[in-house]
Amino acid sequence: MTKKLTIGYLYPEYMNIYGDTGNIITLKQRAEARGIEIKIEAISTDTELISNTVDLYFFGGGQDEQQVHVAGDLQRIAPTIREDLTQGAVALTICGGYQLFGKFYRPFSQEDLQGINFFPAETHASTVRMIGNIAVELNPKLYNEIKNIYKNAGDIPHTLIGFENHSGQTTYNSEEHQTIGKTLYGYGNDETKQFEGCWTHNAFGSYMHGSLLPKNPHFADYLIYKALEYRYKEAGQLQNLDDELEYTAHRAMLSRLI
Ligand code: GLN
Repeated sequence: MTKKLTIGYLYPEYMNIYGDTGNIITLKQRAEARGIEIKIEAISTDTELISNTVDLYFFGGGQDEQQVHVAGDLQRIAPTIREDLTQGAVALTICGGYQLFGKFYRPFSQEDLQGINFFPAETHASTVRMIGNIAVELNPKLYNEIKNIYKNAGDIPHTLIGFENHSGQTTYNSEEHQTIGKTLYGYGNDETKQFEGCWTHNAFGSYMHGSLLPKNPHFADYLIYKALEYRYKEAGQLQNLDDELEYTAHRAMLSRLI
């Protein structure tokens, strides 16, 4: 039986900067390389969203103007997204999308933009422009989970690398979440340069554009694995792909930064 997964791409016409669509291409290619069929559904201002039809939500970044554009409509589908995520559906949200999966994003000159309130986070625009390459040491719990999806993990990196460009600083007022990891180079969630991203259930928020997944295939595979687990209850270990090029690029970037 051919396994099928549905990726729900939130507001692709507005929320997609710094190559974010590269994440969709990477997920599709890596799943198809393992014989998994991928359907990509654009979810936008006129889309009816039915629960339990999307296995993996993707929400890219956007400047304040784009976030203002989608925030109102996002409230319409927020209950369905929250329900799916609570049931174990996967999400990868980048920068502006990450901010709108929290409680709210407070831009400089506008009203607060309500988020879907899945991440226990709030984001405030700041005068600090957090821009440039970023390297993150994976949260050990996440690293171990990633390693266990493979028959033979080999020496997959303990790191993620990407590019960030944001003024929003994201803070947490609860312990009900994990971070993606410690910031080794760059900023991440805020100007303290300590932690990057958010992980709760199978939902991830990250400030890493680039796009994130091409140079971090181990994280892409983990998202595919969790989506299979959500849809089919068991995923079975993923066979390795030839990622020499991807990991060479990853390690070359890492050695430049740290
Ligand atoms: N507009 C938001 C900020 O500046 C998000 C930017 C982005 O998605 N790169 O923080």
